[in-house]
Amino acid sequence: MSGSDRGGDAIACPTCGEADDLSGNREDELILITCGSCDTRWYRDPRRRCHRCGAGDLYAAPVAVVEKSRGTQLSIVSTTSDYLCWSCDRDLIDAQRQSGTALMPDRLPTN
Ligand SMILES: [Zn+2]
Ligand SMILES: [Zn+2]
Repeated sequence: MSGSDRGGDAIACPTCGEADDLSGNREDELILITCGSCDTRWYRDPRRRCHRCGAGDLYAAPVAVVEKSRGTQLSIVSTTSDYLCWSCDRDLIDAQRQSGTALMPDRLPTN
């Protein structure tokens, strides 16, 4: 990543806080950022910003698409992605990364 496309956004590794030793690889419309310090990788979507704090550094979290089957049972039919903010939604991001499973839509912050 060149110095100029950092813009005013402070990008830092969510695991170790490294802000300089980061590299970015474009994958389709996302950028895969790799921390050179602890090897954490995460995706950054350059088109999106947090609507609450304006940060451009969002995490594309897997989110379950659920359908009501009989009664109140919900079943997961597929997964999609939603964008969480590293500062506003940090708890949710940590929980998702720890569990390794898709988030349930009712856990997402209301927009
Ligand atoms: Zn790191
Ligand atoms: Zn935010």
